[in-house]
Amino acid sequence: APSVRRHLERLAAEGIDVVRVTYPDLIGTERARDVLLDHLPAACDHGLAFCRAVYHTSPQGDTVPVPGGLDAGLPDICVHPDLDTLTALPWEPGVAACLGDVTDPATGLPAPESPRDLLRAVVERCAEHGLRPVVGPELEYFLCDAAPETASGWRRYSEAQGVVYTAGLRADGDNHLLRTLRMLRDLGIGVSGGNHEYDGSQFEINLTHSDALEAADRAFRFKAAVKELARKEGRLATFMAKPFNSAGGSGFHLHLSCVDEDGISAFADPAAPYGLSATARHAVAGVLAHAPALAALANPTVNSYKRFGPDTLAPWLIDWGLDNRSAMVRIPPERGAATRFELRLGDAGANPYLLIAGTLAAALLGVLAGEEPPAPLEGYGYDSARSAVLPGSLPAALDALEADTALTGLLGKDFTASYLTYKRDEVARFQRHVTDWEFTEYAYHL
Ligand code: GLU
Ligand code: MG
Ligand code: MG
Repeated sequence: APSVRRHLERLAAEGIDVVRVTYPDLIGTERARDVLLDHLPAACDHGLAFCRAVYHTSPQGDTVPVPGGLDAGLPDICVHPDLDTLTALPWEPGVAACLGDVTDPATGLPAPESPRDLLRAVVERCAEHGLRPVVGPELEYFLCDAAPETASGWRRYSEAQGVVYTAGLRADGDNHLLRTLRMLRDLGIGVSGGNHEYDGSQFEINLTHSDALEAADRAFRFKAAVKELARKEGRLATFMAKPFNSAGGSGFHLHLSCVDEDGISAFADPAAPYGLSATARHAVAGVLAHAPALAALANPTVNSYKRFGPDTLAPWLIDWGLDNRSAMVRIPPERGAATRFELRLGDAGANPYLLIAGTLAAALLGVLAGEEPPAPLEGYGYDSARSAVLPGSLPAALDALEADTALTGLLGKDFTASYLTYKRDEVARFQRHVTDWEFTEYAYHL
């Protein structure tokens, strides 16, 4: 096709000889094939075959019984490069990356494990009701140095205390943040800035706001890029929810609003309570109502639930508040076109596509139901006398997701079945595993 030829000429002129075709799997991990430039046209014509096994092998090498995998003889899935997303990798000369869309070759339709298509479908449902979501992601992560003497092989880059918003070398000994920010700018994924977070070696980087799919694509590429850049320095960047007992967790805050078909904010209404339109209030009510199920997507690991708790700046209760960081849903003080909510529920380990799709689905259900939220929280937000508590564990959240048929109706039956199978298997593997904590707690006294 002429457009493929145009891309090829441009890439060759830029000295690119390899295209890395990546896609997000069910849990948001980057999967890829490196394709020599000469073979890109064939990859665009036919798609690239990947073994469905990636969904059937856990990161620890265990077999996961996701439907349509081992039980079906590990058939192919087909990944189609989306050349509109091509960008040169600033840290890997000669290589450009692009995203792909996953189809099932048996049907030619999007595969149930394609998070991009899941999000597209939810965005489409919002459009049917005249709403175009606008999403701004904020992600936190920890940077680790190799430490062969520790059990995990890694330790925090810095254990300094009280370093939130500390600039430069005092908290970031060799300017990891500056280097990373500049690389991310050159990658062209819309990064606005970053800062040191609360705990030593924890950073936050903010992405600009955009349409939902683009925001998810950028958050996905952001996580992969930060991990790769850390690797280049012999380090490990981790987005897991709560990697250390000695530090707080890492959040994946989502700023969300909607515009109408004319691009005018559907959330702003100076005459309405709190300056929030009925649509905005109903959206918040939907997120509160579906929060237990949403946690299964926003907080997708057994580790996620160790981030929650009173006085953590991560939520614990299902609540909302006006510029209140102790609430699960915070309404930032800006109004007008910037009227939005910040969902503070998600942890950085979440698959961006699923977190955004789930949040939009919950918000849309609230809009369709015309629900009003309770009066907003005032002051200290961790008093459980007032509000319901979030699920305390992954199994509880998965049960809530399965029970929330309105939400799973929007996410789709096949996706829900695959996701519940994958995640329940993860829970079962964890429950069989003997941890260090158990030995320390029991071995001496018992
Ligand atoms: N690290 C906190 C969390 O887990 C958020 C801190 C902040 O407000 O930046 O969500
Ligand atoms: Mg933060
Ligand atoms: Mg935030």
